[in-house]
Amino acid sequence: MGPLPPHQVVDAGGSPREACGVFGVYAPGAAVAQLTYLGLYALQHRGQESAGMAVSDGETITVVKDMGLVTNVFNERTLAPLTGHLSVGHTRYSTTGSSTWRNAQPVYRDTGAAEFALGHNGNLVNTEALAAEAGMLPGTVASDSDLVAELLAHEIAAAGERSDGRELEHALLRLLPQLEGAFSFVLIDEAHLIGVRDPNGFRPLCLGKLDTGWVLASETPALDIAGAHFVRELDPGEMVVIDAGGVRSVRPFPVERTDPRLCVFEFVYFARPDSRLYGQSVHRARQRMGELLAEQAPVEADMVMPVPESGVPAAQGYARASGIPYGDGLVKNRYIGRTFIAPGQEMRARAVRLKLNPIRENIEGKRLVVVDDSIVRGTTQKQVVGMLRESGAVEVHLRIMSPPYRWPCYYGMDTGDRAELLAANLTVEEIRDYLGVDSLAYISTDRLVEATGAVGAGFCNACLTGDYPVPVPVSLRKDVLESNDIPPSGVDTLLHEPAPRT
Ligand code: 5GP
Ligand code: SF4
Ligand code: MG
Repeated sequence: MGPLPPHQVVDAGGSPREACGVFGVYAPGAAVAQLTYLGLYALQHRGQESAGMAVSDGETITVVKDMGLVTNVFNERTLAPLTGHLSVGHTRYSTTGSSTWRNAQPVYRDTGAAEFALGHNGNLVNTEALAAEAGMLPGTVASDSDLVAELLAHEIAAAGERSDGRELEHALLRLLPQLEGAFSFVLIDEAHLIGVRDPNGFRPLCLGKLDTGWVLASETPALDIAGAHFVRELDPGEMVVIDAGGVRSVRPFPVERTDPRLCVFEFVYFARPDSRLYGQSVHRARQRMGELLAEQAPVEADMVMPVPESGVPAAQGYARASGIPYGDGLVKNRYIGRTFIAPGQEMRARAVRLKLNPIRENIEGKRLVVVDDSIVRGTTQKQVVGMLRESGAVEVHLRIMSPPYRWPCYYGMDTGDRAELLAANLTVEEIRDYLGVDSLAYISTDRLVEATGAVGAGFCNACLTGDYPVPVPVSLRKDVLESNDIPPSGVDTLLHEPAPRT
């Protein structure tokens, strides 16, 4: 069977991409569903589209999942049937088009020989090739995560009659080396909790210890809330198998594939500020981004203000390093989620105005330094600058905690194609002019890495440089739709006329 057109398995345009939260518990005698509920609550920021969990009592697995927030999906009634001693949970973030129940996780399979459930954070880049190789008919799998579950089920079935109770582990050892892209997986079968981190470690995954067992989580605050203490981050390319015998570490991937490339945007934006990544405090890293920005791009002004909430620590850092007073120019409506997820440009623009509201008293007559995490399509900044001007700001100097975002992400962040990325199409001066600010500076890539406190640990920065650590098939690459020449890393090319913006 030939390769499938990409949209038949995973739509390259509005594709199901998972930048999600995963959580797992193995703890005999503990209320694992309740612990998973708490863990998912702590990981809600990683995905607000759907939530779910699967619990095993050693004999059988029960799954509850639905669209919506953790608090919409789970309550006493839906948690009640989830009895057992091991579980896996998931919060999902994605674009529209794929906001369907079918894509909610954990995904579940019962092969007869084994039952298992899987939660996935990240995005595979060889989904089509894997599906084609397996001879799957178009449309038979809903997403890359669903494909992995299907291929694992095939492996278990193909292994036949062996029954040491470790069918899922054996199937993973055979399948994992074939997967390419970003994947932090948490899985359970009837009796084991398993965690896997891809050889680049694009997405985080950590291990914690409870009095009576173990926890796996995307981020450290989810361990804290479940009452587990942090043991360590999983290594890129590591699989851990947890059962009554404790934790076993396995290396399923060829050693030459190990190349640590944690997503640098976990530090900039995605992770919670109280998370620790590469052993570093994310909040402290964000403050340092602001301090280094103040050093790199100083300006005379009356007040430094953040775009809440992601700009807050960096604005504090900028204020401290520059000596310019820190103040609040915008308040955030607590009852609205991440606007990035809103469908369509017009709705996104409205959502920004609903989410952020100016405090005129703090803005009028002032020269402002405004600090934010990133500019992707420019929606947030266009609206923010408009609100600040309407409220009487005399100067607006924009400072961004990440370098220009020029290349699409294929590893689990849905940031649209190159036509939508402001910095793919405009120079920094053109962006300054388009946004209508008096000055604009982005932190340099070196300073960003320095700010993380983990220089040399290894980062993905493909969206900033075009240097993709795992090659992305041309059929998926949104940046080559118009041209077959992939410009070398970091080249500032004008590929398109900017899309009309409101
Ligand atoms: P823009 O408004 O420029 O289109 O998008 C940037 C804004 O979206 C930032 O303020 C950031 O806080 C938010 N955002 C939400 N999700 C993401 C994501 O996955 N990546 C990045 N870089 N920013 C995101
Ligand atoms: Fe993170 Fe950018 Fe790499 Fe995607 S391309 S994983 S957003 S650093
Ligand atoms: Mg923001």
